[in-house]
Amino acid sequence: GFDDSVLICDEVDPILNKILEDNGLKVSYEPEITPEQILEKIANYNIVIVRSRTTITKDMIDKADNCKIIARVGVGLDNVDQEAAKAKNIRVINAVEGAMNAVAELVLGLMLSLARQTTRGDRGIRNEQWLKKELKGTELRGKYLGIIGLGNIGKRLGRLAHALNMNIIGYDVVPIDEEFSKEVGLMKADLNTLLQSSDYISIHVPLLDSTYHLLDAQKMSTMKNTAKIINTSRGGVVDEDALYDALKNGTLGGAALDVFEKEPAIGTKLAELDNVILTPHIGAQTKEAQSLAANVIAEKIVQILRG
Ligand code: NAD
Repeated sequence: GFDDSVLICDEVDPILNKILEDNGLKVSYEPEITPEQILEKIANYNIVIVRSRTTITKDMIDKADNCKIIARVGVGLDNVDQEAAKAKNIRVINAVEGAMNAVAELVLGLMLSLARQTTRGDRGIRNEQWLKKELKGTELRGKYLGIIGLGNIGKRLGRLAHALNMNIIGYDVVPIDEEFSKEVGLMKADLNTLLQSSDYISIHVPLLDSTYHLLDAQKMSTMKNTAKIINTSRGGVVDEDALYDALKNGTLGGAALDVFEKEPAIGTKLAELDNVILTPHIGAQTKEAQSLAANVIAEKIVQILRG
C-alpha cells in the first residue's frame, strides 16, 4: 500500500474511493469543498482529484508543494491550469475512455430530436397544442454529417451514424485513423468544404486558443441554411451570439447544445428559440461513463505510484 493522501474535490463514482483505499491511500472525500478551502489545505495532499465542478487554478498549484498528481475524472482538462502544474512537476492525468460512448450516444439522440423536433412536440402537448402538421420532420438516413475533430468521441459518433446510413465527412488537424476512415467510408475534407456540405455538424475538439470560436459568424454564413449544429465539446468553441443571430434569422436550421460559454446557462437567450435543444452538460452523465472514468483514474494513479 501507499501512505499518500488524496483530496477528492467533486462528486465521483464511489468505486474510485474504494480502489484507492484498498491500495492503502488515505482519501478525503469533499465533494462540496470551496476554492478557499482548497487553497487552505492543498499543501497537505499528494494527489488532488476533480471532475468538472472544481477548477484547479495557478494560485492553488502554487501552494500544492506536496502534490504529485492532479487527476480529472473525465476528458477535458480546461479546468486544470496545466502550465502551472507542469512548472511544478505535477502529473496531470485524465480518463478519455469514459465519455466516448456516452457523448456519442447523446449526439445521436440530439440529431434525432433535431430531425423530428421531439422537444418542440413535447412542449406543444404540455401547452395544449397538437403540432402534428407543423412538425413534418426529416430523416437522418442519407444526410451528410460533418464531424469536426475525429478523436475518441468523433470516431465513435462516426461509427454510430454510419450504422444509420448517414454520409460522414471528417475534418481534423491531425491525420485521421485509417481503419476508422475505411470502416465508415469517410470523406475527408477541409473545414470550409465540411461546413458547406453538411446537413449536421458535430464538434469534438478540445477548447484551445486555436479552437476558440472555431464556428463564428463568418463560418456559419457558409453553411446550408438548413444545417444543424450540435456542440457537445466546450462552450467557447461556438460563438453563441453569432449562433443566436443565425438561428433567429433563419440562416441556420437548428442547434443542439450541451455546453455553453457560461455554465450553468440559465437565462441564455438561446432558450427563446424553438429550433434549439439545450441540455445541461450531460454528455458524460451516465452511470457507465462515470464508473468507467473512476476505474481508469484509480488504476492510473496506482500505476504511477508503483512507478
Ligand atoms: P480527443 O482528444 O480524443 O479528440 C479531439 C480531436 O480534436 C483530436 O483528434 C484533435 O486532433 C482534434 N482537433 C484539435 N484541434 C482541432 C481543430 N482546430 N480542428 C479540428 N480538429 C481539431 O478528445 P475527445 O475525447 O474526443 O473529446 C472531444 C471534446 O469533447 C473535448 O472538448 C472534451 O472536452 C469534450 N467532452 C465533452 C463532454 C460533455 O460532457 N459534453 C464529455 C467528454 C468530453
